[in-house]
Amino acid sequence: MPSTTLLLKQLKSNYPQFTFKKGNYFLWSPSENTIYYCDKSDNKPILLLHEISHALLGHADYNSDIQLITMEREAWDYAIKLAISYNVTMPTDVIESIIDSYRDWIHDRSTCPNCTATGLQINKHNYQCPACNHRWRVNEARTCALRRYSNK
Ligand SMILES: [Zn+2]
Ligand SMILES: [Zn+2]
Repeated sequence: MPSTTLLLKQLKSNYPQFTFKKGNYFLWSPSENTIYYCDKSDNKPILLLHEISHALLGHADYNSDIQLITMEREAWDYAIKLAISYNVTMPTDVIESIIDSYRDWIHDRSTCPNCTATGLQINKHNYQCPACNHRWRVNEARTCALRRYSNK
């Protein structure tokens, strides 16, 4: 398995169309055409391949949490394919646990703070409860909802 430094070097030379920058999170920024990577994670090679997958798949904006999760899954599927070419081991348990974290994340966001029924997303930033009609606002998901990995 290549070191992160070597992998980064390979990715930079294979994909010169993207900018690579050190940041606080692993993040693909479509507006800046930049892949941000961070040093503080145990899973640097797999997260790097995940972010480059978002970039290669042309992932940009999303309108709903479900759409975001679909993009996340696509990026993981693609990263698994890339990993073979780059000789990176993709630990299934880590990926499963990341995908589980998306499920937890969407569950938290969609639970009505008033009555705990499952709300419906009415637009990117708002949910509404079908049981009690309560509406609530949700924040934009800035990173791939991988905070518990990227903040290590
Ligand atoms: Zn409710
Ligand atoms: Zn992602």
